[in-house]
Amino acid sequence: MRPSEVDGLSDSPLMWIADRPPAVFVQGQGSWLTDREGKNYLDFIQGWAVNCLGHSHPAMVKAISEQAGRLINASPAFFTDGLLKLAGKIVSHSAMDKVFFTNSGAEANEGAIKLARKWGQIHRSGAREIITMHHSFHGRTLATMSASGKPQWTTLFEPKVPDFIKVPLNDIAALRAALTERTVAVMLEPIQGEAGVIPATREYLVALRELTRREQILLILDEIQTGMGRTGTLFAYEEAGIEPDIMTLGKGIGGGFPLGALTAREAVCCFEKGDQGGTFNGNALAMAAGLAVFEIVSQREFLEGVQKKGEYLRARLEEISSRTGQNRVRGKGLLLAMGLGSDEGTRIVEKAFERGLLLNSPRPDTLRFMPALTVSEEEIDRMIGILEEILT
Ligand SMILES: *Cc1c(COP(=O)(O)O)cnc(C)c1O
Repeated sequence: MRPSEVDGLSDSPLMWIADRPPAVFVQGQGSWLTDREGKNYLDFIQGWAVNCLGHSHPAMVKAISEQAGRLINASPAFFTDGLLKLAGKIVSHSAMDKVFFTNSGAEANEGAIKLARKWGQIHRSGAREIITMHHSFHGRTLATMSASGKPQWTTLFEPKVPDFIKVPLNDIAALRAALTERTVAVMLEPIQGEAGVIPATREYLVALRELTRREQILLILDEIQTGMGRTGTLFAYEEAGIEPDIMTLGKGIGGGFPLGALTAREAVCCFEKGDQGGTFNGNALAMAAGLAVFEIVSQREFLEGVQKKGEYLRARLEEISSRTGQNRVRGKGLLLAMGLGSDEGTRIVEKAFERGLLLNSPRPDTLRFMPALTVSEEEIDRMIGILEEILT
């Protein structure tokens, strides 16, 4: 069913940016969303890997409602309790020393690009080229679209922000060949999410870290999709045994509340007064949401649970995949994708929607699975059951 067939959706005053499924959602609980007709949907999208604790987790509801009654927003130029606490948590659980909070992932990446360019101006005689990856996704502002390697964006919104050099992922020779004295940083996702869950290999990340260190340029990891426990460790870089110079966070860090973070090693932090800021950045309400999420997600038992459920989901997907002769499951933890071998993605997503299952197809031949990190094995089984019905 197209939106045009559903009452009042075809002529809505919303600016068109994409086809939305024909439902109006009014409520959510854990892994489930409910529309205004009362139909329930098992949610394996979760706001695009955003709602790490599922819908309306009690800890988030409590933190946000209590904070709303106490203080919503002081000023981006003031200290607040929550600001200091959440920054402290991120710093003590990561290799980063300093944090700047943003309202979105793209804004965090904009900040990372600015910080790298500033650092290049001061420490690398004005070097400002940033090497990024083919098929990468870093956001939808002009600079982050320019940084992204999505082929459909190559000629969009010209002129682009200059000085992003694109190379293929997992090809260290190509990266070496792209280095010049103008290079200031390399920026990539540990697992490319929007591209269809394509991991950077461990060997590549290790080689990249060695190379960037030797060349004295910055390594920027965009952990907006992979961070906050999504891949089974708090940050995906831990798995590769490397540490970036700059790391950006978004999506899961707010658990559904708009929040992102630009984080960096102390030595890289070179913003001067007036270089960076933003009206809503680090507001008290966002900090309360972020703290509620962080307290849960950073627990070792919670992360072990993500690993366990990730392995379970992977095993169940591999069963399906090997039966259809594909055997193409990719990703880590609860960021997984299954190759379909043909361009059936959209058809499967529509069929799943009819049956009350929300799935995502980032590429026509791929399904992506990003359930809540709190998803249960029963919910995984239920999703697999519906998917099997559709595929046979
Ligand atoms: C979602 C995403 C972004 C953009 O985040 P927004 O909050 O949508 O601006 C950037 N990088 C990666 C890897 C993402 O997955």
